[in-house]
Order: sequence, then structure tokens, then C-alpha cells
Amino acid sequence: MILGIDLDGCVDEAPEFFRTLTMAWPGDVLVITFRDDRAKAEAVLAEHRIRYTDVVLVRSFDTKADVIAERGVSVYVDDQPEMLKNVSSDVAVMLFRNEGNFDFGDRRWKLSEHTGKLL
Ligand SMILES: [Mg+2]
Repeated sequence: MILGIDLDGCVDEAPEFFRTLTMAWPGDVLVITFRDDRAKAEAVLAEHRIRYTDVVLVRSFDTKADVIAERGVSVYVDDQPEMLKNVSSDVAVMLFRNEGNFDFGDRRWKLSEHTGKLL
């Protein structure tokens, strides 16, 4: 099983959790990040002692879903619903909560009409 994780808004929000998760994960760990500087991304991962197999830099929201499909990621963690909406249904997805996607004042998720559907 391949684990995929986002960097910003996830690893930097809860480095101890992601360090423990990646160290315990039995398979490859792919870091998929919307960044353009590989060295800086790898420095953050080293700083937080995250175990990973590869870092993939993407330049658009939809590219994350493409990488997840192409690389056979089976579990993926990200903090932006935009990144997750095109991920295949056979991938287990976890949305990581932070101040960017959740309003702690009124305790509601921040969604756009493109990522959320009110019931
Ligand atoms: Mg993020």
C-alpha cells in the first residue's frame, strides 16, 4: 500500500503525527506538494523527520489526482478539498483540518460551491 501525503497544511500542522504515521507505514510514502522548490520541500521533510520515498511537485490542483492514480496511491491525506475532488473512489482520502479549511469561530468547514454540497 502506498501512502500519499500533502506537505503544507498537513505535515507542518502536525509534524509529530505525520512522523509517526510515515515511520510506521509499511509501504512507500509519496509526498505530493503544490510547490516548485524541491530542495525547500525536502528541507521541511528533513526538519520534521518525515520518512518518504519520493517527492512529487505539482503545478495544478488536478495534477495531484493524476499523480495519485498514476503512482497507485491507496491512502491520501490533504487539507484542500480542491485537491481531493477528482481522486478516484477506490482511494481512501482524509481531509486534514486546519484554519485554512475550517472556521474555528463558528465550527464549520469552509467550502466553495465547487467542493461542497449542503444537505
Ligand atoms: Mg495543503
